[in-house]
Amino acid sequence: MQLSNDEIKRYSRHLILPEVGMAGQKKICSSSVLCIGAGGLGSPIAMYLAAAGVGKIGIVDFDTVDFSNLQRQIIHGTADVGRPKAESAKETINAINPNVEVVIHNTRLTSENALQIIEQYDVVVDGTDNFPTRYLTNDACVLLKKPNVYGSIFRFEGQASVFAPHLGGPCYRCLYPEPPPPGMVPSCAEGGVLGVLPGIIGCIQATEILKLALGKGTSMVGRLLLFNALDMKFRELKLRRDPACPICGDHPTIKALIDYDQFCGIAPAPVDPTAHPDEVTVHEMKKALDDPKLGIKVLDIREQFEYEIAKVDGVPLFPTSQIQQRFTELDPNQQYYLCCKVGSRSLSAVDFLRQQGFKYVKSVKGGITAWSEEIDSKVPRY
Ligand SMILES: [Zn+2]
Repeated sequence: MQLSNDEIKRYSRHLILPEVGMAGQKKICSSSVLCIGAGGLGSPIAMYLAAAGVGKIGIVDFDTVDFSNLQRQIIHGTADVGRPKAESAKETINAINPNVEVVIHNTRLTSENALQIIEQYDVVVDGTDNFPTRYLTNDACVLLKKPNVYGSIFRFEGQASVFAPHLGGPCYRCLYPEPPPPGMVPSCAEGGVLGVLPGIIGCIQATEILKLALGKGTSMVGRLLLFNALDMKFRELKLRRDPACPICGDHPTIKALIDYDQFCGIAPAPVDPTAHPDEVTVHEMKKALDDPKLGIKVLDIREQFEYEIAKVDGVPLFPTSQIQQRFTELDPNQQYYLCCKVGSRSLSAVDFLRQQGFKYVKSVKGGITAWSEEIDSKVPRY
């Protein structure tokens, strides 16, 4: 392949780097990268790779752009709210660099399609926000011998590495053999994230991808980078391949993709979502609030700072962070409906109170977010 005069001008700051040069830029231009997720991490990754001239960028994302994404997902703009993320990302990428071939995979990555999608690319970059997809991405990359450029973010902290057993390093399972119990690790939607954090971690991932394409520098294979934005500190851990790893170890037991929802303990959605024995709907919560004769008390179990953002009138705060110390203030024979932001912390709180002998505790499905969507849109969503 030959670079056109326009391309020579576009990539001139690369071309004059001896470590890149014409040969290196041609390697970048003929490389292909699959980006799993066009969210917080995917945004800077895809934008910088596009600017650098990566020849083909695949985007796997089935989600649509939401207002709450814009604080960090800089590949999307306000006018993109409601559009498929993959389409919005493609438009931004091609606005940056029309030479990039963007392939949209407007679908969820599954055990059925992962191998067929991933095999079309040189490198995979993990910008996902959930454990089933993270393990699926890992296993598919190990099976196909593709480098998996890993990043994850939460609140003010991030991690990055390159998983590539075929290059001598470990895989994600060597580091985290078992997923955390469902609900134990809050998502960014529940726990929050500093908007610029995915920018930092994503740029580290993009750097590793360019180094892999160039074959230059010391890659992060076998190293885990830990970043704390509040302290502005980077730390590094050495990682070794686990000989007992079920997928990249000496005697692998996983030879094909498995059911990752099941592996991560996520039950398939019930046919009738209202049928969950521990849940009530926001409509039932409204009935309880409107009719005190029912004798049901509704408690908001979010934290004080969330209560200040949005609350439902007449629902007192009883923060989850204090529940272990303060549950004795509650009456174990009283009926309670517990409401959180989206309905997952309240399910855990129901479990906890059950164990303490509470008989009539229910979780409000969808939490205050569902309340805002279905009952009172004046309550802000965050
Ligand atoms: Zn492994």
